[in-house]
Amino acid sequence: MRIIVLAKQVPDTRNVGANAMNPNGTINRAALPTVFNPEDLKALEMALRVKNQMPNTTVTVITMGPPRAEEIIRDARNRGADDGFVLSDARFAGSDTLATSYALAQAIRSAGDFDLVFCGRQAIDGDTAQVGPQIAEKLGLPQITYAEALESVSEQEIVIRRRLEQGVETVCAALPVLVTVTSAAPDCRYPHAHRLLRFAKTPVEVRNADDVQPDFARLGLAGSPTKVKKVDNVVLAHKDNVHLEPTEDNLNEMMKNLINEHII
Ligand SMILES: Cc1cc2nc3c(=O)[nH]c(=O)nc-3n(C[C@H](O)[C@H](O)[C@H](O)COP(=O)(O)OP(=O)(O)OC[C@H]3O[C@@H](n4cnc5c(N)ncnc54)[C@H](O)[C@@H]3O)c2cc1C
Repeated sequence: MRIIVLAKQVPDTRNVGANAMNPNGTINRAALPTVFNPEDLKALEMALRVKNQMPNTTVTVITMGPPRAEEIIRDARNRGADDGFVLSDARFAGSDTLATSYALAQAIRSAGDFDLVFCGRQAIDGDTAQVGPQIAEKLGLPQITYAEALESVSEQEIVIRRRLEQGVETVCAALPVLVTVTSAAPDCRYPHAHRLLRFAKTPVEVRNADDVQPDFARLGLAGSPTKVKKVDNVVLAHKDNVHLEPTEDNLNEMMKNLINEHII
């Protein structure tokens, strides 16, 4: 069995320092430490659990980003993935979710046959939760979203428990299928010391746009119909704080205000 895991390197939003924003309101990415997107770690764990149950399974991790995203592949290998590559090219710059999912779908196609694709439900920086479902659409795959547990797997099908707002649902899908994994899924296992030593000097493969044979008109800015009209830098000042007594009327009033201000 061949499994692909999609994992994104994201800014560590839990450790935002004073110089995280540039004076012009844009993000100072160089000042932000990066981490493995949390739900992608859970997706990796689910893939590794399939590997544990199915002999001769390989797990390949793909990340799209700048060259330093190779840290994701190294981390994934140390935790149990077999291999992986970084998809990196200036021609991907400015990609919205449509162009990102196209590039990743091409990367999956270029990597050969597969049975399962695991991704996180959403990335903590972009937060759209669109990339997984868009890739399924582009690859013509069925998809299981909001996965929280692997119930069983065979060479023909997979059974997954999904976490929904009002409860859980258990679904079965024939392979190949794409699964998006939520934060309710089990945590990822730790890196193994012997794998750390084994892979310490193994380089990470980097593939560029030519390697995935795309339609270049669908990459980067050219392939991104999303237009960002305006970016606001919101800094809460002391005057934005309101002290409310915890009464039913106050709560109702607050909810009305939040809705009127389009905050929720
Ligand atoms: C107009 C526009 C221009 C943009 N320009 C840039 C730019 O120049 N550079 C830039 O970095 N971003 C840019 N972005 C942001 C970029 O489009 C998103 O970060 C990207 O599409 C992923 O969306 P998301 O973060 O919402 O992922 P989600 O849809 O929330 O992610 C779901 C899952 O998909 C997988 N996934 C998502 N992204 C990746 C990835 N890169 N590699 C591997 N797996 C992944 C992960 O498993 C993840 O958990 C731009 C966005 C817009 C709208």
